Amino acid sequence: MDNKVYLSRDEIPKQWYNLVADLKRPLRQPLGPDGKPISPDQLAPVFPMNIIEQEVSQERWIDIPEEILEILYRWRPTPLRRAVYLEKHLKTPARIYYKDESVSPAGSHKPNTAVAQAWYNKQFGIKRLTTETGAGQWGSALAFACHLVGLECKVFMVRVSYEQKPFRKTLMRVWGGNCVSSPSNETEAGRKILKEMPDTPGSLGIAISEAIEQAVSDPSGETRYSLGSVLNHVMLHQTIIGLEAKKQLKKFKESQPDVVIGCAGGGSNFAGLSFPFVCDKIHGKSMEIIGTEPTACPSLTRGAYRYDHGDIAGMTPLLAMYTLGHKFIPEPIHAGGLRYHGMSPLVSHAVCEGLIKARAYDQLRCFDAALTWARTEGFVCAPETSHAIAAAIDEAIKAREEGKKKVILFNYSGHGLLDLLGYEKYLNGELTKYELPQKKLDESLDQIMHFPEIE
Ligand SMILES: *Cc1c(COP(=O)(O)O)cnc(C)c1O
Repeated sequence: MDNKVYLSRDEIPKQWYNLVADLKRPLRQPLGPDGKPISPDQLAPVFPMNIIEQEVSQERWIDIPEEILEILYRWRPTPLRRAVYLEKHLKTPARIYYKDESVSPAGSHKPNTAVAQAWYNKQFGIKRLTTETGAGQWGSALAFACHLVGLECKVFMVRVSYEQKPFRKTLMRVWGGNCVSSPSNETEAGRKILKEMPDTPGSLGIAISEAIEQAVSDPSGETRYSLGSVLNHVMLHQTIIGLEAKKQLKKFKESQPDVVIGCAGGGSNFAGLSFPFVCDKIHGKSMEIIGTEPTACPSLTRGAYRYDHGDIAGMTPLLAMYTLGHKFIPEPIHAGGLRYHGMSPLVSHAVCEGLIKARAYDQLRCFDAALTWARTEGFVCAPETSHAIAAAIDEAIKAREEGKKKVILFNYSGHGLLDLLGYEKYLNGELTKYELPQKKLDESLDQIMHFPEIE
């Protein structure tokens, strides 16, 4: 049996899947400052109307424009691989499959939505995009996409990553993007934080505030903002992952997975792989679907499910989501892409409905899983991805103990070849286990207790 399945160019999915269409209970709408649902017009200074239409769409299937597919063909369809060496090492009867999103030019799943967003903005007549980035994967993905469709790209990069991961900054410059450390002196929001907390490691919440501010304050009206995760249209663009994986599992002669796993920062790679399977679960199939996150930033496992802002300055609408509070600043762990205080409203909804479960892992456990992976399968995974691998290993061991031939599928969201500093520190024994103290969490959640509650 081969340990990898590719799809041909014409087998690529031609439509994205929108989970909203299959939800039993409707998704809770974003609220404006007045506590009332916002109208699409209110988002128009931030996003182009064609993206806003996708954000609020109720359609189950949305056509992928041919010009977007043309770009995606550079690396898609991505391979589905079977982790036979890890299986052997674990002596598990489980079959472990992983969807390899690390083969994209930027090295993660993020170009899937970056290309789509850049293309829709270009169609709408926009000239320049601003965005935030944590570890730099999103910034580099957007710089790449903007270059291909002919847009300028400005990236606010969380300070701790800007310093820890200088090569992603280089990658952005290679693709013509302009990257600054956040908090920066270029925006009101940034200057305010720098004054209050000069030594802050930065956070995605701060960088989002800066990027939105710069987009909406451009007097030419030709700048918009782009978000790499969290929002419905981002989850939508990523479903190409799960739709391809379904076709590939069939070629492996598997009828369905028993367990589907992804790491969740804002939720997009997890949603991208899992939502087509969540659809099957809604329609009666039995399956475990697990999102994993760091114990340092445990929005799904310890956060509150309520309305909250997506950014520190409170510029975004209130989103119904699992959140640690929009002022929460996580410890500078190496899985930068998972250091976000909130969670996609769609993923949050599915968790609340019992369709998805969540689990948290600390960074030592994750790097341990990453080394096991590298020493069996050979590939060096992103620190974010190691949270999915840790869960896949746990599930494979459980299958061994129960003597069950389970089918485990997880998303290999990216490679770690630009994250070697984290590996170096782990190998030197310099990393510590970190559980978010209850007191810090309570203090952060206290600040959002006046926001509307979710019934
Ligand atoms: C950004 C990133 C993540 C986390 O973001 P999601 O939107 O939750 O997918 C996970 N893995 C990698 C490799 C990333 O770059």
